[in-house]
Amino acid sequence: MTDTPTQLFIGGAWADAADGATMPVDDPATGEILCHVADAGAKDAQRAEEAAVQAQEAWARTAPQARSEILRRAYEIIVARTDELAHLMTAEMGKPLAEARGEVAYAAEFFRWFSEEAVRIEGGHGVLPDGRNRMLLSRRPVGPCLLITPWNFPLAMGTRKIGPAIAAGCTMILKPAPQTPLSSLALAAILKEAGLPDGVLNVVTTSRAGEVCEPLLRGGRVRKLSFTGSTNVGRLLLAQSAEAVVRTSMELGGNAPFIVFEDADLDKAVDGAMVAKMRNMGEACTAANRFFVHSSVVEEFGRRLAERMGALVVGPGTRDGVDVGPLIDRVGRGKVEELVADAVERGARVLVGGRTPEGPGCFYPPTVLADVAPDSRLMDTEIFGPVAAILTFEDEDEVVRRANDTPWGLVGYVFTEGLDRALRVSERLEVGMVGLNTGLVSNPAAPFGGVKQSGLGREGGRVGIEEFLEYQYVAVPMR
Ligand code: NAP
Repeated sequence: MTDTPTQLFIGGAWADAADGATMPVDDPATGEILCHVADAGAKDAQRAEEAAVQAQEAWARTAPQARSEILRRAYEIIVARTDELAHLMTAEMGKPLAEARGEVAYAAEFFRWFSEEAVRIEGGHGVLPDGRNRMLLSRRPVGPCLLITPWNFPLAMGTRKIGPAIAAGCTMILKPAPQTPLSSLALAAILKEAGLPDGVLNVVTTSRAGEVCEPLLRGGRVRKLSFTGSTNVGRLLLAQSAEAVVRTSMELGGNAPFIVFEDADLDKAVDGAMVAKMRNMGEACTAANRFFVHSSVVEEFGRRLAERMGALVVGPGTRDGVDVGPLIDRVGRGKVEELVADAVERGARVLVGGRTPEGPGCFYPPTVLADVAPDSRLMDTEIFGPVAAILTFEDEDEVVRRANDTPWGLVGYVFTEGLDRALRVSERLEVGMVGLNTGLVSNPAAPFGGVKQSGLGREGGRVGIEEFLEYQYVAVPMR
């Protein structure tokens, strides 16, 4: 912690906020303050914007190979410092160290992937339909970007945006969530060490998100917004982006269905449920929110899931043997408590968990609810906690209709041993991603993203860099 930067990173230098403001970073396992970081205001945002705009032209002209090598070096530094970064992440966010190490590896992979993509940006040359004239097509960086990230994956949500932006030749201003600024500041220091030129990445940590971001979006110099967070905030930022016609990528909320058919392998289904529900203590956009289980296997599935959930060890993420850390803060935990109370009031049975423990920290026990009524609030609200809500269904048409009956469409999970059914149901689900007999879909090489109100665009995969590139077409008349 002692070497972790706590200032703003603007134009390649560390600086306090112009008005000297700072904000506390809390440890969610104890509620104690870990440290204070600079709290940027509108003036700092302007300086960051100026740095990004000034650096853009030269950065766009930098050889793709040079951009690739910076990302590759940063990848190697991150991997070498896995332990240090994992401890930092656990301190500010709460997830157990083993999960934090997993996130560091996942985050680093975006840099490796996009270091390989940086040198594969292709244009084109074509004969126009008249047979005489030609067109030249080239790809160019979209320009200075604003990247806004949430607290739940403090490192990976940053590298998933920074990686393709660097590869494409864009400069950027990163605004991380105020709960988890330290991972982003550590990442900025690593990229500087890896040789990233001054001004290409600027990091503004702030508790004044609106004051910092709105002028950037409305001002017209920032050409791209890449946002990960809740659908409500995404909608607001889309409206703000409309004024200067800023290009947007939106990774928003989810309400994932997890469907277990009567012919599912229940071992696989319970293993999958543990991952889809418990990764990141349930604080993931991909978290299974609604478990639809066929009536013929629902008792058995519920019993086995409750047994596995009940065996998990809850405690501070730094302690050996802990599986489930604290939730991010008291507000997040309060929301989980309310959703569980509402479901129980409407008739849900608590198979395990369901009681907030006494004492410091924002802990909540792994919880399984059976016989959840379809009108319970948690059916159309992201739980964002370790609570599995089980409902029963009878047939395929019914479950597909109920799974799709939501404004969100990020991911769905399907468990069946029938190939026809697996493909048919995957095609019928209105989601951007499907986990077929698996509870994990995230992979840097795959296009991550949702449909409906879960977002616009994709991150990762071959298409991830497209979000940061424009086409330019040159008409070439031939005589
Ligand atoms: P959030 O409240 O929407 O915040 C996300 C980020 O937006 C934070 O940095 C936040 O900063 C910032 N923000 C909020 N209001 C803003 C404004 N007016 N102008 C500019 N920035 C603003 O979401 P969260 O609670 O941190 O994260 C959880 C949400 O993220 C869930 O809905 C989850 O599903 C979603 N998520 C989606 C994905 C995906 O890939 N689809 C991945 C991870 C998480 P402040 O906190 O300071 O307001």
